[in-house]
Amino acid sequence: MIFYTKSNMEDGYDVTIGLEIHVQLDTDTKLFCGCSTGHGDLEPNKRVCPVCLGLPGSLPVVNEKAIEYAIEVGKALNCDITENTKFDRKNYFYPDLPKNFQITQYNKPIAREGKITFEVKGEKKNVRIRRAHLEEDPGSLVHKGTKEGKVLIDYNRSGVPLVEIVTEPDFSAPKEARKFLDKLRERLEYLDVFDPERDGALRVDVNISLSGKRAEVKNIGSVKGVEKALSYEIARQKNLIKRGSEIERETRHYDEENNITTSLREKEQEHDYRYFAEADLPNINTKSITNTVEIPELPEERRVRFIEEYGISREEAEKLTSQKSIADFYEKISKDIDPKVASTWVADELLRELNYRDMSIKEISSGDFIQLLELIQKNKLTDRSAVKALRKALDNNISPIEVVESEKLRKKGGDTIERVVSEVLEENKDAVDDYMNGENQAINYLVGQVMEKTGGSVDPSKVNETLRKEIESSAQKKGT
Ligand code: ZN
Ligand code: MN
Repeated sequence: MIFYTKSNMEDGYDVTIGLEIHVQLDTDTKLFCGCSTGHGDLEPNKRVCPVCLGLPGSLPVVNEKAIEYAIEVGKALNCDITENTKFDRKNYFYPDLPKNFQITQYNKPIAREGKITFEVKGEKKNVRIRRAHLEEDPGSLVHKGTKEGKVLIDYNRSGVPLVEIVTEPDFSAPKEARKFLDKLRERLEYLDVFDPERDGALRVDVNISLSGKRAEVKNIGSVKGVEKALSYEIARQKNLIKRGSEIERETRHYDEENNITTSLREKEQEHDYRYFAEADLPNINTKSITNTVEIPELPEERRVRFIEEYGISREEAEKLTSQKSIADFYEKISKDIDPKVASTWVADELLRELNYRDMSIKEISSGDFIQLLELIQKNKLTDRSAVKALRKALDNNISPIEVVESEKLRKKGGDTIERVVSEVLEENKDAVDDYMNGENQAINYLVGQVMEKTGGSVDPSKVNETLRKEIESSAQKKGT
């Protein structure tokens, strides 16, 4: 369903790319029946009923939540929402589709004519969204772990709601497609309508042509895979053109393991599907839902607001808004902590430590974190000790304050430095003598001793300074 209108000359070739993205909506139940969409419940063919198995005489009923989610997606893509929407049958035979037709939307998709703007290499890029429609997911074929020549079918996925987003062919490079998909994913996460952790939650078909005749690569399961499959296709098609061969209009498969695409079949034409209206479902007036459904502030808007409102850098704002949960956490912290201090600590320290441990920010108590940062702000804790407390807290699933108290990490006052310094000087007379005899590195040893005694809670350059002063003044006393 892609019509090529725009020309993008690159490297002498007219590269044109369009995307069709299937997104599983994270509803509790399926699109047309009450079966669970099944979080973590992986036993095959358990979440099924006559409707999603396509048994004769069963009748579908629309899940209103799915309509609501699809409208949210449409709004987030700046689409017009169709007031009178309807479902249609797309007829084709495949073992994962027990009815021999898929219930989808043909001429009245729930959303159309949207747009996403994003940046690629510092330049603004507009991609038009042609349409977004609701449809049911087919079942899944299981190839792995089966006897040779056998394929199993699992109908648990059959009937899971999908929204299919179709772009105009506005991309001219694989990198653009990847960037777009990253932005799309980010938006969907903000809407909280899909579960990015679920296998197959986002699947992409790409249409790519260099010569007018296009190939379609179906069902790519990752954003990185899309970029790679497109790069492979560009190279493959360039080669064919150079050798004077025809590019087939066909559907191809992306083999992620070997990073190649292989021919599946001749491309279907639209009339092959014999679309007609689904008579078992009524037309749906979306007006009341469209008027009540509100979408949250989206990542790009939030990024701009963070920069203006909190005076933080673009780079930090990007990190802080990359996920809604991180942005929410930051804003909560910033009510009590200087937003710039909070930004450094959340965007740099906390995210790094969480990444390292493969943890999510949802596992962190904002209250605990505020307490930790308050100690820093009141100058009762060094940055170094705070990082130490944070690491230990994450490793042991306790609060950082507990670590601060149990390890006595609170900053010692100036008099403590002086007290420990005189202790260390008393205990290390040899090193003091070495220093007096011109061995400058002896001071480093003494600094190390003080740091050890204070558990690293004091500033080493301050210690260094105090040590030198002390040694000099006692030398002067001896001299007189
Ligand atoms: Zn069912
Ligand atoms: Mn589809």
